[in-house]
Amino acid sequence: MALKELVKKDPLGLVARAYAFAELAHGPQKRRSGEPYFNHAKATAETLAEWKMDDATVAAGLLHDTVEDTGAPLETVRKDFGEDVAFLVDGVTKLGHLKYRGAKEKAENLRKMVLALSQDLRVIFIKLADRLHNMRTLAALPPEKQKRVALETDEIYASLAYRLGMHHLSGELQDLAFPYLHPDEYRWLLAETRERYGERLDYLKKVKPLLARALAARGIHPVAIDIRAKRYASLYKKLLRRGMDIEKVHDLAAMRVIVNSVAGCYAALGAVHEAWPPVPGRIKDYIAVPKPNGYRSLHTTVLGPGHKTVEIQIKTQEMAEENEHGVAAHWLYDRRRSGEPVAYRGRRLAKELAWVQQLAAWQEKFAEREEHPEEFLEAMKKNFFADRIFAVTPRGDAIDLPLGATPIDFAYHIHTDVGNGAVGAKVNGAIATLDHKLKSGDVVEILVQKGKKPSDGWLRFVATSIARDHIKAALKKKTLFARMAGAAAKKVRRG
Ligand code: MN
Repeated sequence: MALKELVKKDPLGLVARAYAFAELAHGPQKRRSGEPYFNHAKATAETLAEWKMDDATVAAGLLHDTVEDTGAPLETVRKDFGEDVAFLVDGVTKLGHLKYRGAKEKAENLRKMVLALSQDLRVIFIKLADRLHNMRTLAALPPEKQKRVALETDEIYASLAYRLGMHHLSGELQDLAFPYLHPDEYRWLLAETRERYGERLDYLKKVKPLLARALAARGIHPVAIDIRAKRYASLYKKLLRRGMDIEKVHDLAAMRVIVNSVAGCYAALGAVHEAWPPVPGRIKDYIAVPKPNGYRSLHTTVLGPGHKTVEIQIKTQEMAEENEHGVAAHWLYDRRRSGEPVAYRGRRLAKELAWVQQLAAWQEKFAEREEHPEEFLEAMKKNFFADRIFAVTPRGDAIDLPLGATPIDFAYHIHTDVGNGAVGAKVNGAIATLDHKLKSGDVVEILVQKGKKPSDGWLRFVATSIARDHIKAALKKKTLFARMAGAAAKKVRRG
C-alpha cells in the first residue's frame, strides 16, 4: 500500500500520526537541493511502504531524522509512538552521519551497522531506504561529498542489500553510484550502448509474442513476460572481465517469464527449448541448486529468430519477489503466515540469519583490536560482502564460502580439527592441492592425519578469517610447545 493510503486508511494510526509529527518537526527545513526536508522523510517511508514493511517501520521511516536533525527528544517519540518505533528511530540515529573517510571512520560505520543489523533488521531496512533517496538526490551535493557518499553506497550499502538478497535495490544503488565513481567510463558506456540497447529491445519486443505463442502451444499461460535491460554498473563489470569488448556481451537485455508453479517453470523451459535450440552450457537450474544468496530461477540462452541469442529467465511470482526483495520478502511471507507480534519479528529474523550472527560475533572480536581498522574493513568486505561460492561435503552439506576459498578454508569451516589436521584434498573425486580455488558445486573431501599441525605457508592462500585465525592460533601453540620442549630438553641435559 502506498504511504498516502496508509495515512488515509487509519487517520489516527501510527503512520498518520508520524506523518503529521515529522512534517511539523521538520517545518521549514530545506535540503541542499532547496526542496523541503520533509520530502526526504516522506520518500524514505514511501520506499518502506513499497517493501511492505509493518506500520512501525514505516512510521520510523517518517521520523528517522527528527531526533538527529530537528532536536525532537527521543522521549517524546517514545511517549507518542511507543517503544517499538522509538527503538527503531534510536537505532537509525545511532548509525548517525559519520563521514565515510579514512579507515577508522569506515570501520566504525561498518561496526555500528553490523550491530544494528544483528539486533533488528528493520533498522537496516530504514537505513537502506534512507540511502536510496539520498542517492537519488545526490546531484545536489558538492562533488567531493558526492564521491564519498557514492563510494560508501557501492562498498557497503549495495553489498549489504545484495547479501540480504535485495537484488533489485542492490543493483539500483550500484547504478546510482556508478556515474559518480567512474564518470568517464559512464559517459563512454552510455554512448557505446545506446544504439545497441535500442536494437536489442526492438528485437526482444518482436520475440515476446512468439514466446507467448510457443508457451501457449504447450498449454502454459504465464502470469507475465517482460524484458529486462542489464544495468550499467553490472554491464561495466562484465566488460572489465571481457577486455572492454562490447561485441562479446550479448545479454544487454533478457526476457523474464513468470509462471504459477515450480512445475510450470520446467514445463516452460521445455516449451522454450522446443521452439528454439538452447545454447549448450547456458542452461542453469537455480531452482534445484539455488545460488548461495538464495537466488532461484531457471536460466537458458536459445538461438532465437534470425539466429540471434536470447537469454530467458523463468521463475514463479514468489521467486521473483524473493529475488528482488530477499529478506524483506521473507519477512512479508512470515508475517502472512504467523500471528507473531510485529515488534519481535525483525529481531528474531536477525537471529535466524546465520551470517548476521557470525558477522556480529566477529565484529565484537575486532572491536577489541581497534588499532587495525583497515584489516577489519578488508576482512569484512572479503568475508561477508564478496561474492560467495557454495562447496559441498561428501555427505551433501553445503558450505558457504567467499570467492577464492580453498580446501583449507573449507576444512576450517567444517571443524577446527579438520583444518588443523588437513594433509590433502579431493575435489570432485580427484586429488587437488590445498591452495586449489574452489568453485560453486564442488564436492570437497578433506584428507586428515591425526596430530598434524597447520603450516604457516597456508596463511599465504587462505581466503577466510576463520581459517586465518585458527591457523595463527595453532601456530602460536606450536611455537609455545616447541619452546617448552626445548626448555625441557635443556633441563634434562643439565640434569
Ligand atoms: Mn535521512
